[in-house]
Order: sequence, then structure tokens, then C-alpha cells
Amino acid sequence: MSELTGRVALVTGGTRGIGLATARALVEAGATVVVTGRDADRAEAVAKEFGGHGLGLEAADFDSVGAAVKQVAAEHGGLDVLVANAGIMESGLLGMVRADDVRRTLDVNVAGAVAAVQAASRAMARRRRAADGTERRGGSIVLLASVVGTYGAAGQSVYAASKAAVAALARSAARELGPRGIRVNAVAPGVIRTDLTAGLPAEVLDRQAAAAALGRLGDPEEVADVIRFLAGDAARYVTGQVLGVDGGLVP
Ligand code: NAD
Repeated sequence: MSELTGRVALVTGGTRGIGLATARALVEAGATVVVTGRDADRAEAVAKEFGGHGLGLEAADFDSVGAAVKQVAAEHGGLDVLVANAGIMESGLLGMVRADDVRRTLDVNVAGAVAAVQAASRAMARRRRAADGTERRGGSIVLLASVVGTYGAAGQSVYAASKAAVAALARSAARELGPRGIRVNAVAPGVIRTDLTAGLPAEVLDRQAAAAALGRLGDPEEVADVIRFLAGDAARYVTGQVLGVDGGLVP
């Protein structure tokens, strides 16, 4: 039996990048996995490839996120793992930032994560009978922060602020939800090779690779493996942590 056999996991933004790698890792660990993407058909098609399920969700819409989480828990007999991964990164110097840019980033990265944590914690707090017949209560929530939220980065003030908020959300939700058996942690990746970072200038990527102790950028699977650890019972006494997955980055 694998470590997540009989567990139900939801990965938001699981159609590509870190989310997709995480969904694959959780399936490999035995979980029933639902991924969400902005487009329901695409999410379903991607999920089929690795034996999961797909669902449409707009992360910036607080109610839509709550409804999607509720739907997953209802259809699969509960929820054990939430990976609130959906996120956007818009770069721009402070002088160019407009109010709408700030709102969009905070809506997707912060409000979307809050909505997911809120709905997931309601589902996880309920006692439920799992597919393997065991009774369960509680769960594990993993959020996606970023090294940028800790160190900051020129041209990424808004994104950095949103990721610092996500780290604070993980620490606070862990305190509030711990008594109900729900662990909440965040990973703070360095620069990982995905669509999100593909547009960054080559010299920025080279500089980030050189600033990492391991001397290279990361791959989505390297973040997914840490999320898988945090999702499972091997991390049963770990909560309220923001774990760097950055190759030893010292910017
Ligand atoms: P990505 O752009 O490859 O994937 C992002 C996912 O989020 C996609 O599935 C996308 O559909 C979904 N998404 C974005 N906006 C959405 C919205 N409004 N509604 C619904 N879904 C939406 O990005 P990635 O690199 O895999 O990043 C995943 C997470 O990791 C993000 O939260 C990102 O901030 C964080 N992160 C990434 C890096 C990196 O270097 N790639 C570093 C630190 C943190």
C-alpha cells in the first residue's frame, strides 16, 4: 500500500508546471487526485493522462473556488489533501504598477488561496469514512509561497507581496486549524523551470542559477516531491512551516 492510498487530493492549477508534477506525484503515492484549471475540458483531458479527474475553476472568484472544493469533497466522499497551487506572476517596476494589476494578483494568489483553505478545512474537519473503510478526520494543506516573498525581487513587488501573504496564511491557518487535525504548510520554491518563469530574461535565469548553492534552476518534480512529503503521514508532526525548495538560494 502506498502512503496516500485511499486519500482524496485536490490540486488547483494542476494542468501544468508544479501543479501537474504534484498531481502526478500524488497519484503515484496512491491518492485519488482532482486537478483544476481555468478550462474544465482541458483540465479533464490533462487529468485523464495520469489517471486523475479534472474540474474548471477560476481562482480569482472566491465563491467559485469554495464551490469547486465542496463539489470534490461531495463527489469523492471527503477531502484529505489540498494543494492550493494556482497562481500568477506579473512582473513590472513599481512606477508602472496599476491598481488593477495589484487587485488581479491578490485576487488569484491570496484570495484564491484563502477561499481554498476555508472550503477545504470545512470538508477536512468533518469525520468521514474513506474508501478503505477507515474513519478519518483532518487533513493536510500545502500552499505555494516563493523565495521572492522572503527576499523580495526588483520588478516583482506585487507578486512578492502576494507570496509573503501566502506564507503568513500558512502559518496562521496552521494555528487555527491544528486543533481540528488539519496541518497547513507552504513550500517556497526558488526559480523552477515552468511556463511561469519561461518569459524571464536569460540573464535573470542565469543569475538565479548561479545564486543557488546547487548552481542550477529547479524542476517541477523537485517541488512536487516535497509537497508529496508534506501531504502524507511522514510529515504528521509538521505544520505552520514554510519550506524552501530553492537549491540553497542566497540572492
Ligand atoms: P504555471 O504558470 O506553469 O501554472 C500555474 C497554474 O495555475 C496553471 O495550471 C494555471 O492554469 C493556474 N492558474 C493561474 N491563474 C489561474 C486562475 N485565475 N484561475 C484558475 N487557475 C489559474 O506556474 P508554476 O510555475 O507551475 O507555478 C505554480 C505555483 O507555484 C504558483 O502559485 C507560483 O506562484 C508558485 N511558484 C512558482 C515558482 C517558479 O519558479 N515556477 C517559484 C515560486 C513559486
